[in-house]
Amino acid sequence: MTDPDASQPSDAIDRLVEGFRANDIRFHEFESHADPDIATAARRQIVAEETGADLETIGSYAFPAADAEPNIENMLGAAQVPIGVAGPVSIDGGAYTGEAYLPLATTEGALLASVNRGCSALNRAGGATARVTKSGMTRAPVFRVADVVEAEALVSWIRDNEDALAAAAEETTNHGELLDVTPYVVGNNVYPRFRYDTKDAMGMNMATIATKAACDVIEAETNASLIALSGNVCSDKKPAAINAIEGRGRSVTADVKIPRDVVESKLHTTPAAIAEINTRKNLLGSAKAGSIGFNAHVANVVASMFLATGQDEAQVVEGANAITTAEVTDDGSLYVSVSLASLEVGTVGGGTKLPTQSEALDVLGIRGGGDPAGSNADALAECIATGALAGELSLLAALGSRHLSSAH
Ligand code: NAP
Repeated sequence: MTDPDASQPSDAIDRLVEGFRANDIRFHEFESHADPDIATAARRQIVAEETGADLETIGSYAFPAADAEPNIENMLGAAQVPIGVAGPVSIDGGAYTGEAYLPLATTEGALLASVNRGCSALNRAGGATARVTKSGMTRAPVFRVADVVEAEALVSWIRDNEDALAAAAEETTNHGELLDVTPYVVGNNVYPRFRYDTKDAMGMNMATIATKAACDVIEAETNASLIALSGNVCSDKKPAAINAIEGRGRSVTADVKIPRDVVESKLHTTPAAIAEINTRKNLLGSAKAGSIGFNAHVANVVASMFLATGQDEAQVVEGANAITTAEVTDDGSLYVSVSLASLEVGTVGGGTKLPTQSEALDVLGIRGGGDPAGSNADALAECIATGALAGELSLLAALGSRHLSSAH
């Protein structure tokens, strides 16, 4: 709310700074006394004075601070990460079909060039194919029970009452649907893993709110006590094998078959060299290292497309959980695929509404809710998987061409 006494923005900023210095107003209370841009400027002035940092560029943001209010507290300005495009790349997807410019926000030089080179090889092969093969956002609370007898009773009760749990959960949302509940037991702890179709939302808030309603039913009807709404079997923002095996968000695969002459002319290597490097590096090297993902640099594309399109950047942890395969086909071509097990993406909610992020979704033509609901988030998953495929191909080819040149 704008301060009615503020004749000039600078007066309003001074009043907040003075109020802060007098211990009358705390940082996070600035927005209750002034317009969000004024509050942001006052905070910047205090931090600049106290740290000696020049915050002019952080303060040069191009959208009203009010637009970011649901997304940030104690706002100072905006971190400006360069954004570019790779492509266009041709995608034959279940939800996205056409030529896509892929928006990537990164500070890593050469990443766009590398993905772009991969896109161009994909195009020469007729484009990538991509499909979402499983979908569901999960939340797994932890319940305390007395012992294994009660644990088994709770597991049976959950299995027998999934309809009642679904009814309670779905009361909280217009779009979310409970798909299933899988209970896990550890001693006197039970972790029912709720899985939802969250349509075009990444769904973590939606699933959390819905699961709380289902937990109320469990507590009312059984002896179990809810200890925490998230019991980490979900598993959000932590490396976890359960996401790699069961999936979380979208499980999506992109693949391509590239004729041998295209591999040689465009990527300066051979199908056999790429297949060998993939086996020895991405599969065996990753196995030796105890990796969860078996790939070269899928995190690069996931992270940069997450930043560009307003996804929750901490979910790169499981979003980059991918396996890359490469093999020489009977006709001597190269088959390459990337399967991302747990890509949590949305085109509504979270950071997707922010101005630059929604512009990036416009580049893909998938801002907001899809028709049918869920199709835009599926399309985004397919675009990210295709970008990851292009990135894998390009890096494997770079290694392959060096391998070939060093072998001669
Ligand atoms: P959200 O903004 O909380 O929920 C999505 C909203 O969009 C819902 O209100 C939904 O309404 C509405 N909606 C409109 N059209 C839709 C469509 N076509 N498909 C789906 N929903 C549609 O977003 P969220 O994805 O659930 O959560 C994302 C946020 O959660 C991010 O900010 C992320 O950082 C944060 N987060 C939260 C947790 C947590 O534990 N709470 C953990 C990690 C991240 P209805 O529900 O009425 O259908």
